[in-house]
Amino acid sequence: MDELEKLKIENEKLRKVSENKSDVISITAHQLRTSLSALKWIIKMFLDGDAGKLTNEQGELAEKAYSSNERMLTLVNDLLTMNHTDDVSLHYEFKKTDITEIAEQTIFDFSGETNKKDIELVFLKPEKSLPRINCDKEMIRVVFQNLIENAIKYSNSNGKVFISINQKENEIQLSVHDNGIGIKTEDKESIFHKFYRAPNAIQKDEIGSGLGLFTTKNIVEKHKGKIWFENVDGGGTTFFVTLPID
Ligand code: ADP
Repeated sequence: MDELEKLKIENEKLRKVSENKSDVISITAHQLRTSLSALKWIIKMFLDGDAGKLTNEQGELAEKAYSSNERMLTLVNDLLTMNHTDDVSLHYEFKKTDITEIAEQTIFDFSGETNKKDIELVFLKPEKSLPRINCDKEMIRVVFQNLIENAIKYSNSNGKVFISINQKENEIQLSVHDNGIGIKTEDKESIFHKFYRAPNAIQKDEIGSGLGLFTTKNIVEKHKGKIWFENVDGGGTTFFVTLPID
């Protein structure tokens, strides 16, 4: 057997090991998600008084259990998406899609959370309708979700988050702007790395996976787009994503 053959066999073995690991992550994360979702609805029923009126103290404890469960659900979802997007063999389903519609749906999904946290989510709609772009709708939804979720998570209460979509020549540009904790110069290079969380982010919210931006970048690049951020004077961050119109 020549060297090339040996390498091919080794490569195939490694691919199998990696595939098995991915499957274990997927199965575990799905099971966790099922249990956490069930728990979510049970706590929600308590909160809604379906099992009898709660005292103030019981209500506060149930609120805490609900938020904690929500954060665990987010972590598990991050893990699932990362596992999914990290898989080089994954086929994206590219179809002509209206990005504005995805943005509107995602923003709507966050309205409960922003109300609770006293954060205003503002969508600066494009003035004229934008051309549809060739993309994987569910993956672009993950991009919006991750950026908006971070903007909310790293904002202070009474914060404002602005989301905008525009056409810039041959590209669609999305931006998510917050006036939260910002990103320090020393963390600039690392925030798109897998598992990286900046110290100020850990201090603000100790729960996080450091997988959101890594996954987001991965998805954007699969669409031949770009992602970057800029710090905002006076505190806060704006994330930008461009996606080609083809
Ligand atoms: P997570 O939010 O779970 O920590 P992400 O991968 O989504 O992980 O983000 C990686 C890191 O980038 C965060 O831990 C934080 O340090 C930084 N970051 C992302 N978005 C923001 C934001 N809007 N404002 C400040 N820091 C941010």
